[in-house]
Amino acid sequence: MKERTHSLPSFSAWLNKGYDLRRQAAGMRDARLDPEISPASVFLALWHAFVFRLPSFQQLDNELNHSYLQHWIGAERGFRDDTLRYSLCGFDLDPLQAMLVDVNRRFKRGKVFDEDRVQGRLVAALDGVEVLSSFSRHCENCLERRVSRKDQAGRKMEEIQYYHRAVGCQMIHSPVQPFLAGEWLRPGESEETAALRLLRRLPEVYGSRWFDILVLDALYAQTPVLKLAHQMGWDVIISLKQNSRDLYQSAVRLFARRPPDANFTETQDHKTYRVQLWDTEGLPFTIDNPEPVRVVRSEEVLERNRFREGQRTRYATDHEWLWITTLPKSTFAAATIRQLGHSRWKNENNGWMDLTKHWAFKHGFLHACQHRPQRLNPEGQREPVPNHGLAAVTLILLIAAALSSCFVLRHSKLVRRDHLTAVAVAAQLRTWISKAPPSIRAPDGTGRGSRTGPL
Ligand SMILES: [Zn+2]
Repeated sequence: MKERTHSLPSFSAWLNKGYDLRRQAAGMRDARLDPEISPASVFLALWHAFVFRLPSFQQLDNELNHSYLQHWIGAERGFRDDTLRYSLCGFDLDPLQAMLVDVNRRFKRGKVFDEDRVQGRLVAALDGVEVLSSFSRHCENCLERRVSRKDQAGRKMEEIQYYHRAVGCQMIHSPVQPFLAGEWLRPGESEETAALRLLRRLPEVYGSRWFDILVLDALYAQTPVLKLAHQMGWDVIISLKQNSRDLYQSAVRLFARRPPDANFTETQDHKTYRVQLWDTEGLPFTIDNPEPVRVVRSEEVLERNRFREGQRTRYATDHEWLWITTLPKSTFAAATIRQLGHSRWKNENNGWMDLTKHWAFKHGFLHACQHRPQRLNPEGQREPVPNHGLAAVTLILLIAAALSSCFVLRHSKLVRRDHLTAVAVAAQLRTWISKAPPSIRAPDGTGRGSRTGPL
């Protein structure tokens, strides 16, 4: 019979055959002693919450009432978010990190990153994101900043705000754009420090030259980043803004004196870009590090339609972009540098932004969790284990997002036939849980032996 919608068994068959989900789940660990609900079930419960794109963790509570979901994730009974929280706070991050690496390695072997290579190269981007902010709740890993705001009487006051921030590295040239790894900023350190730590870790887990080109924000226009990229064999494209004052000004001065090196018009989704490009090699990076770099500048007039009082009119806005790059002019035209530079901007919109908007990522349900499993410290006193909740949830989300998007964009025939969005596929998988037939009890009464085996 022809399949009409996606079912959990077919999705899981794909996951188990290609990505060993069942074995990976069995390897999950947490700090609880002899728990009734296994870490594998906790992992799978949260994994399904993300795959189904449930709007909240309370919603997962409800879904766990379905005996079929319980059965599917290998739990003997339903459980509530307090069990999830208690387990995740003490979750071991190593198996999760290893799973994310394993998924990406399998993507590479399966030629997922061969699609849309840029002149044969693989492209990644690095970006930061803020996760959670609060004036009241905080934990030992929170970052702090002073924020002025107005109280109810309209008086200006200063208060300490607590927040978490991470940097993530993501593949961006191919339709499937998984994150490779993330790194949390530690209290008191800058985003660049966390980013450098992440970039040094990548070759250790993925091997050198996993990708060829790294696209970065203006914040990273710094000598240590250039040096590290050179050492790793990566080419870079970095946004150039006023924070790199000397280089920015010398590029702007130079380009003001001459006509553009290239001109073209590009039309995309009812938008027209009229682009002028300037391109130069050999500008000194900084006074302290006069290593010559190439700078590309794009002046763009964007025309689009606007509807006013029932009338469609065209209106135009001006935009300016500059990038520093180590890619040579002879093989990478300025138009390609512009295209790659803009893909980082897309990453801001599609990468972290997609996760925070469409995947309930900013959920603070684990933040500052005091109720955690205990362990003995070197002095023999009992103390709560370090809180890994936020890091564990983030990793599970990154794994779920990577696999779901690969399924939708590369595997599913139904997506192509019915032109389904990723959100529609998530809804079909979720609906399947409530439509699934009640399990046929096995003679031992455990519920194992239902029509379709558990995940
Ligand atoms: Zn915190």
